Amino acid sequence: MKLCVFDFDSTLIDGETIDFLASAYGAGREVAAITQEAMEGGLDFFEALNRRVAMLKGMEVSRVKEICECLPMMNGAVECVATLKRKGLIVVILSGGFHDATDYVGKTLGVDATFANILHQKNGVLTGLVGGEMLFGNSKGAMLRRIQGLLKITPEETIAIGDGANDRAMFAHSGVSIAFCAKEILKREASAIVDTPDLRAVLPYIG
Ligand SMILES: [Mg+2]
Repeated sequence: MKLCVFDFDSTLIDGETIDFLASAYGAGREVAAITQEAMEGGLDFFEALNRRVAMLKGMEVSRVKEICECLPMMNGAVECVATLKRKGLIVVILSGGFHDATDYVGKTLGVDATFANILHQKNGVLTGLVGGEMLFGNSKGAMLRRIQGLLKITPEETIAIGDGANDRAMFAHSGVSIAFCAKEILKREASAIVDTPDLRAVLPYIG
């Protein structure tokens, strides 16, 4: 195994960044309902992302940064990533969430790269618009194939770990795909299912 790609929200961290942001901005319940439906595969990812980010319009960027820098880490995340790095794997975060969160956590965990979206801001507040490289339901698959191409790594040498509907796209190009405390729609396409909320529990499937 040469490459391990992780989902971010509810995989490396314990919860959903956008729900934490919305709850601090007074739109928690509305946003969390959309997140839940999107992660179960009941909503188009792009549409669900845009609708939720629009509800954050006007939120102070300093507050966003504050929240993104104290997200709760998933149990065992530090040990899991450290073990993979020690084994010589390249570790990458593929997230439909936001760089404000993934870059900070990724650096803390020592991952090699993070791909995510960008919350647009102007005059110190969010504009309610979102851009970036991971906007669509199939973005994780497209990005994984590009990474594999650049690094000359095959799907058979790739492990993917995630919990939501949009992780199916990266599972499709990975030899080992682990559904971690995942939604039913993702479990159906996984090569392994781990329901223990501790990332150390995925290590036996990696070899
Ligand atoms: Mg997730």
